[in-house]
Amino acid sequence: MAEELKTIRLAKSSIGSEEIELVTKVLKEEYLGMGKYVQMFEKELENYFRRRVVAVNTGTAALHLSYQAIGLREGDEVLVQSLTYLATFQAIHATGAIAIPCEVNKNTFTIDLNDAKKKITGRTKAITPVHYSGNPGNLDDIYNFANDHNLRVVEDAAHAFGSTYKERLIGSFGDICCFSFDGIKNITSGEGGAIVSNDELFMERIKNLRLLAVNKDTVKRYNGARSWDPEVEEQGWRYHMSNIMAAIGIEQLRKFPERKEYKKKLVDLYYSRLRENPKIVLLEADYNEVVPHLFVIRVNERDFVREVLQNYGIQTGIHYKPNHLLEYFKRFNSQKLPVTEEIYSEIMSIPLHYDLSTEEVCFICEKILYLVK
Ligand SMILES: *Cc1c(COP(=O)(O)O)cnc(C)c1O
Repeated sequence: MAEELKTIRLAKSSIGSEEIELVTKVLKEEYLGMGKYVQMFEKELENYFRRRVVAVNTGTAALHLSYQAIGLREGDEVLVQSLTYLATFQAIHATGAIAIPCEVNKNTFTIDLNDAKKKITGRTKAITPVHYSGNPGNLDDIYNFANDHNLRVVEDAAHAFGSTYKERLIGSFGDICCFSFDGIKNITSGEGGAIVSNDELFMERIKNLRLLAVNKDTVKRYNGARSWDPEVEEQGWRYHMSNIMAAIGIEQLRKFPERKEYKKKLVDLYYSRLRENPKIVLLEADYNEVVPHLFVIRVNERDFVREVLQNYGIQTGIHYKPNHLLEYFKRFNSQKLPVTEEIYSEIMSIPLHYDLSTEEVCFICEKILYLVK
């Protein structure tokens, strides 16, 4: 008799009655746009980071606004690892600037500074370290490099909500830090994102840009008091967060301290099981500091392993196809990145989310250990 196969999802949102209740409250109040719940969510994030926070509707928007607000324009260059979600590249290119793809460190998949150093030109304006799977890599080195060359640092911390670096929370220090709250990130607001920085002028500009660059008292806008006499001096966007999204985010933030411990426990279990097979290469990270977004392994016969796992109902993914291999970005820069390309041929992400059970992790490990010989 065929056993019924339950799909083990690669990633998912984890939503409880608390989110449902607060969203329902917002719906019943019939003010769905950017209002007091967005303000409340921003306040709670400000308490968390001890810094100014602006909430927006996606992580991509957080990056795009940051790049615009630091003044990137046509022909400027941003150093960034190629191994990232394509949102990072699109956000840079949205300003007319060009993403200069860099290699990653093969043990952590964070930007390889030695490679970045070779690619700096007179047009380089910023560097974006992507905190791959929550790991910020060596941020001190990146900030020293940026200081030496007068570059802005826009951290793509989409994976790194809750991670620390030398015991300091990512987002609580440094230049500009962008988070994503899309459905599968460490916390979600449905879709959503946030910009965290201490640069007051920059943050004021971000607040204008997220709402069509209308130069009016933005605090009033939380109350729905729309100005009927707007003035606009630059290109802006409709990138603000809604009350519905903020309601989800507020509850997710409350649950996060407990949840992140559970995620670390799952990752410990993955390491303890998979480490016994030398053909499975695992990323290096200190999980006393890193809250992981993904669990990535490297194996030789990756496509075969993925196919068999799929037959067991285990979903897997590939994070990511390097951006320098994508048609659009190739037009701007067609150089090869051998380390990144080799990594791309072997990586595979296996399930990691808050509703994954330890039994499921054991089942996944058992299948992988059996397949990788
Ligand atoms: C998710 C993600 C983004 C974009 O965030 P969205 O909220 O999906 O727009 C950017 N960079 C990385 C590395 C991401 O994983």
